[in-house]
Amino acid sequence: MDTSAFPESVRIREVGPRDGFQNEPEVIATADKIRLINLLAATGLKRIEVTSFVRPDVIPQLADGDEVLDGIDRPEGVSYSVLIPNRRGLDRALERRDRFDETNFFLSASDTHNRKNVNRPVEESLTGLEETVPVAVEAGLRSEGVISTSFGCPYEGEVPVDRVLDIAVRLARAGCVEVGFGDTTGMANPIQVRQFFAAARERFAAEGLGEVELTAHFHDTRGQGLANVLSALAEGIDSFESSFGELGGCPVPAGATGNIASEDLISMLGEMGIATGIDLPKLIEASAEAQKVLGRLLGAHVLKAGPVNWNP
Ligand code: ZN
Repeated sequence: MDTSAFPESVRIREVGPRDGFQNEPEVIATADKIRLINLLAATGLKRIEVTSFVRPDVIPQLADGDEVLDGIDRPEGVSYSVLIPNRRGLDRALERRDRFDETNFFLSASDTHNRKNVNRPVEESLTGLEETVPVAVEAGLRSEGVISTSFGCPYEGEVPVDRVLDIAVRLARAGCVEVGFGDTTGMANPIQVRQFFAAARERFAAEGLGEVELTAHFHDTRGQGLANVLSALAEGIDSFESSFGELGGCPVPAGATGNIASEDLISMLGEMGIATGIDLPKLIEASAEAQKVLGRLLGAHVLKAGPVNWNP
């Protein structure tokens, strides 16, 4: 295996408090969310997506975004982000401007998924975000664009790479300094991922946007999540999103479960000699606490097995 392009260190954004809590059947008590986020913020994770400002009647699991932001610790060096679908969501979030650092704006690459998720075609979402992202940038917020169904759509099948990259470039031009590509329902395979990120890097360089951070957001729906990470690393990608305990999924379609687990990702990277800056035992403790809160076992492998022990 050619490891020459592998990065020496990677950045990981923990998305469990948003992607995870949003997709659990239970509504988790605000105090439990705050406690779990504080545990995560003490693991060495530097990026945590803490909540979302979607309409509370649509996603009641995250209707307490304000209280969560008010209640969590603000440790030095930890950047909190909130997920934003549109201008109205941003306006609500800005009322708590001093409680977070980054905005993550999302849409899907395929019309059917976007309609089922936010009830409008992609172009309408994108045009809205092109007007909204600059408002966040003006407010001093670092902004990421997140594109769901980047590697395939459960309703439409193949999503052309050029279509995804056209959206990504428009988000970057609107002010996003990072673009995340979501394999929302776990359709991607490692060869596809390698080709996708090669095309993405080439396109961003050609557009004069080579500085934009490209982030991989994989789901482990079909057990291919970490294989896809390996492929992205081989293409030089050094930014990933994952979810502690393997919480999460996507609201549509039902059953699209499971981000890659943060502890599995961090364990694999650590064993490969790629630095993450995250304390794996502390992260496992946070996931064990989440299991207690939810009253059931979570899917992360390393949560069950523990870190690799080379000195038994
Ligand atoms: Zn996800």
